[in-house]
Amino acid sequence: MAEFDYDLFVIGGGSGGVRAARVSAAHGAKVALAEEHKVGGTCVIRGCVPKKLLVYGAHFAEDLADARRFGWDVPDCRFDWPTLRDNVLAEVDRLNQAYTTTLNNNDVEIILERATVSGPNSVRLASGREVTARYILIATGAWPARPDVPGVEHAITSNEVFHLEKLPKRVLIAGGGYIANEFAGIFHELGADVTIVNRTDVILRGYDESIRDRLLQISMTKGIKFQFNSRFSSIEKTDEGLRVTFDSCEPIDVDLVLFATGREPHTKGLGLEEAGVTLDAKGAVVVDEDSKSSVDSIYAVGDVTNRVQLTPVAIREGQAFADTVFGNKPWRVDYHCIPSAVFSHPPLAGVGLTESQAKQKYGAVRVYSSDFRPMKNVLANRNERALYKMICHAETDQILGLHMIGPDSAEILQAAAVAVKAGLNKKAFDDTVALHPSMAEELVLLR
Ligand code: NDP
Repeated sequence: MAEFDYDLFVIGGGSGGVRAARVSAAHGAKVALAEEHKVGGTCVIRGCVPKKLLVYGAHFAEDLADARRFGWDVPDCRFDWPTLRDNVLAEVDRLNQAYTTTLNNNDVEIILERATVSGPNSVRLASGREVTARYILIATGAWPARPDVPGVEHAITSNEVFHLEKLPKRVLIAGGGYIANEFAGIFHELGADVTIVNRTDVILRGYDESIRDRLLQISMTKGIKFQFNSRFSSIEKTDEGLRVTFDSCEPIDVDLVLFATGREPHTKGLGLEEAGVTLDAKGAVVVDEDSKSSVDSIYAVGDVTNRVQLTPVAIREGQAFADTVFGNKPWRVDYHCIPSAVFSHPPLAGVGLTESQAKQKYGAVRVYSSDFRPMKNVLANRNERALYKMICHAETDQILGLHMIGPDSAEILQAAAVAVKAGLNKKAFDDTVALHPSMAEELVLLR
């Protein structure tokens, strides 16, 4: 008889958990994965993927308007939210099925119920069954935070936003981060009146200042409203919708309030502390460089560890765990130079240090930039300028950071991030012939 029921029991079927389960099984481990909702996790089911599809859908508003300047006779178009919503949800279902198939093909046993940790090597399922495993991997992700505001139950989060019955006419979004700016763009493009309310006067903390300022300026020009340094007092239901009151500003009447005020590690009620696993003040599982917790048999990857809350990072952590623990090929995730993007309208993206971070670290730095109106925007009569910015070491000219806002910036930055990660300097970009006419050529023409 085997000592344990499984070699590995994964709790959570998101990006990190699925990768770890699949690869561990491929390395020969006997693996089970428990998921209480749908296989795919936040990114696939209620995050990156459906969000990006909504971004595409919303952007047609600008494309259809611009098309007229390019000679197309575009009749007055009507947008139908249920069509976009249902097509997106159908795609989510397809992906859920694809993930399930991949796990099945790799002989991972999928258990569609909630699982909690009942000891260093044991897991209790919602059905009451108890199973044992040599290793347990916590990959339960994070959950939207809802500040303690009277009436907060009338608001929604990114979990619910993909299922709206109808498109709201007036939207208030709490928070100034990723989700706030992405959904402000989506709702605005789809015709809603949008107000972003944040507790400070900073949006997208952590991104380069000039790039954030450009997004703020473009968003305001488009008609998105911003209310800074505001704290919520209450949210009340009225005959017409919702009334939101603040500590020091006038109330705002809206149809929908979306909370986008960060995501908390999803560890509540998981039995981790009882099993001896150390959690930090935010409830995140504290792990070492190999993703091992304070209990030798329990590991954690992805958002639940609150290291970097990004899907590709969770996937790498899952892969490194599987290769290290079951593949006899130990390696560690390198967190240096992780590119990231915000799919606002227009999108912005960055890799490496911002200008102020670089100055803080190195003192003097060289900054090269290009502030230009993309050719397509010129013909479309759209007064929206792109901004690319490269931060370099003052002596070696090594690239410390690269930041951009403009059409397709996430697509362009991904390729350029290879050069930044490889430690190239500005000269390597200067030595590369421009690919004309493109927006990306501005990267090799920076001054
Ligand atoms: P973010 O961390 O991006 O932003 C949170 C915002 O809410 C900030 O503006 C912050 O204000 C504010 N805030 C935080 N706590 C409170 C509070 N208690 N009361 C009021 N306001 C508060 O969180 P999101 O929810 O937008 O996204 C969660 C995470 O999901 C992101 O950090 C990111 O890692 C990931 N994500 C990534 C995406 C991508 O890669 N494109 C897209 C969507 C999400 P301030 O900064 O002023 O203090």
